[in-house]
Amino acid sequence: MAFTNEQMERYSRHIILQEVGVKGQKKLLSGKVLIIGAGGLGAPAAMYLAAAGVGTIGIVDADEVDLSNLQRQIIHGTADVGKAKVKSAKETMNAMNPDVTVNTYREFVTSENVMDLIKDYDFIIDGTDNFPAKFLINDACVMAKKPFSHAGIIRFKGQLMTYVPGEGPCYRCVFKNPPPKDAVPTCKQAGVIGAMGGVIGSLQAMEAIKYLIGVGDLLTGKLLTYDALKMEFHTVVLPKANGKCAVCGDHPTITELIDYEQAECDGK
Ligand SMILES: [Zn+2]
Repeated sequence: MAFTNEQMERYSRHIILQEVGVKGQKKLLSGKVLIIGAGGLGAPAAMYLAAAGVGTIGIVDADEVDLSNLQRQIIHGTADVGKAKVKSAKETMNAMNPDVTVNTYREFVTSENVMDLIKDYDFIIDGTDNFPAKFLINDACVMAKKPFSHAGIIRFKGQLMTYVPGEGPCYRCVFKNPPPKDAVPTCKQAGVIGAMGGVIGSLQAMEAIKYLIGVGDLLTGKLLTYDALKMEFHTVVLPKANGKCAVCGDHPTITELIDYEQAECDGK
């Protein structure tokens, strides 16, 4: 695969980096990343991955763009209100970079469809906003041996960790089980500062890019937390993968995917 003149220019700031170069850019162009959720986290992640020239990007979301999304979901514009989020996202990404193939899946992840959704992708980004989806994505990625980036945002806080099979704990090693339904407020109930999605979603894109190129250290075995009010980032080293973990442990008790009851949440 030889680059066109246009590609040489488009990706020149990558190609000049010793850690990327032509070789790394080719890895990005042949890379496949699935983003689950085209919301606060998925929007910036999708835009940076498209801009970077990740060749195939899948986006999963059943929702339509709502006016209340636009404060943070910067992949959508005012004219997109009422449009399917995956359609709006694809239009923005293709307008930015026609090199990128965007596959859209207008559905929510469930135990029925998740394995099929993730199977053709190299790296998964969890941009969902609810615990049932986060545990489902974790369990599916562990079972299918797919690396993924977990993130969560609420109010002025965000968190992030990366799972790579065999290289550290999974989300369930750390968080065990979803909290009881309605025990934790959603972003709709509690609010979220708009740029938080930009900070944390961009970090998810960064993890995917590093994974595809194969450079640097990923956030495996670590949990990064960000407090915007204090403007503090902390990285906590997590205990090693828990041999007793119900899904990734030595004797897993979760061998089938679970659809936990959804808390009051509209997916926005
Ligand atoms: Zn685990």
